[in-house]
Amino acid sequence: MDFEPSEKVKQIQTQLERFMDEFVYPNERPMFEAVEKSGDPHHEPPLLRELAQKARAIGLWNLFLPDAEHGAGLTNLEYAPLCEVMGRSPIAPRIFNCNAPDTGNMEILAQFGTPEQKKLWLQPLLDGETRSCFSMTEPEVSSADPTQLQTRAVRDGDDYVINGHKWFTSGAIGARFAIVMAVTDPKAAPHERASMIIVPTDARGFDIVRAVSVMGHAGGGGHCEIRYDDCRVPVANRLGPEGSGFMIAQARLGPGRIHHCMRTLGMAERAFEIMCRHANTRKLQGSPLGDKQFVQEWIATSRMELDQARLLTLYAAWKMDTQGKHRARQEISMIKVVAPNVCMQVLDRAIQCLGALGVSDDTPIAAFWRNARSLRIADGPDEVHKMVIARRELKRFA
Ligand SMILES: Cc1cc2nc3c(=O)[nH]c(=O)nc-3n(C[C@H](O)[C@H](O)[C@H](O)COP(=O)(O)OP(=O)(O)OC[C@H]3O[C@@H](n4cnc5c(N)ncnc54)[C@H](O)[C@@H]3O)c2cc1C
Repeated sequence: MDFEPSEKVKQIQTQLERFMDEFVYPNERPMFEAVEKSGDPHHEPPLLRELAQKARAIGLWNLFLPDAEHGAGLTNLEYAPLCEVMGRSPIAPRIFNCNAPDTGNMEILAQFGTPEQKKLWLQPLLDGETRSCFSMTEPEVSSADPTQLQTRAVRDGDDYVINGHKWFTSGAIGARFAIVMAVTDPKAAPHERASMIIVPTDARGFDIVRAVSVMGHAGGGGHCEIRYDDCRVPVANRLGPEGSGFMIAQARLGPGRIHHCMRTLGMAERAFEIMCRHANTRKLQGSPLGDKQFVQEWIATSRMELDQARLLTLYAAWKMDTQGKHRARQEISMIKVVAPNVCMQVLDRAIQCLGALGVSDDTPIAAFWRNARSLRIADGPDEVHKMVIARRELKRFA
């Protein structure tokens, strides 16, 4: 196993880093200020589209998609260092069209969509013309155990009629469609009950109740509470065969989880860099903060943890590429726990090192913290991953 990036990847990485320095970092603040000035937390500044057009024009576009027909055709291992770079800024994934949940939706549309679905729903996403959301989690039941989902899609002629209550449908405000997980056959075996159905957000009966405020923030496309009230869509909007919702969800989560980890490392590296620069320049009692052993401990421990997390991420990516998602599921679970926890530790040390500046929104660290904390829950809480990791290990020695 060799984790040295290929020449092709190194070239893209250099291009990406240049673009980040020139266009992304300097535009973070203007972008946030434009949203604030508009008075609408869901406002999308025109600058975002301008930067996306620039990125697309030089090929920094859809790098996440291993499918060479629709995307860059990179392996997970090749994509890892690039995804990490894009994780360094909260605005970067939208600029490079690598934003969750669009990425996961594009992957499953590319893999399971009919030619018609690809034309209608996938192509505009690939072109960055629209956004989408993924609607599975429900407030009334534990979504860590999705066999309990209650949203129903009942067949009526050539349509499905959907009724249910979802929340934490990220990015629903401004999205063109949602991919909804709904029970199509309640009598089937638990993992064959549900299907994924594409629901246009302008369909009658698709009602956004609110963007749930998360740690004081409800911006972007929101983490939305949604009611599906006799929402009627054609049967042709179902993705894959009836009852294949769980199978498709699994296919979606493998690469999606590892992408989150790569971006998480990018956030942590940027915070680490800010911490080190601050420790070098902030003076107290006649010397830089970095002379204090407390601070050196934060820096040394962070460096060690970050490099361990990166190696495990690269190993999981390599195993996915060489042995398939199924055989890499233990490593995917492990990294899904390790990366957000390491990131939280590094962010916490960076916040402490920066003092009041650390908790302010004048650096991206506070926003990263909110994001990384959520990642210990989203795409499977830590405890669920640890449970399956332990079960597999126990089985080996039974
Ligand atoms: C910021 C954010 C964005 C999200 N975006 C989306 C999205 O776009 N679309 C979507 O459908 N969902 C989304 N989610 C929802 C996310 O996937 C769920 O929150 C997650 O699956 C957990 O489900 P739950 O919230 O119902 O918690 P529950 O299932 O009620 O679990 C609560 C807690 O119980 C513990 N627990 C659960 N299972 C076990 C177990 N087996 N053993 C021990 N302890 C356990 C864990 O600590 C867990 O955090 C998002 C969540 C967040 C925070």
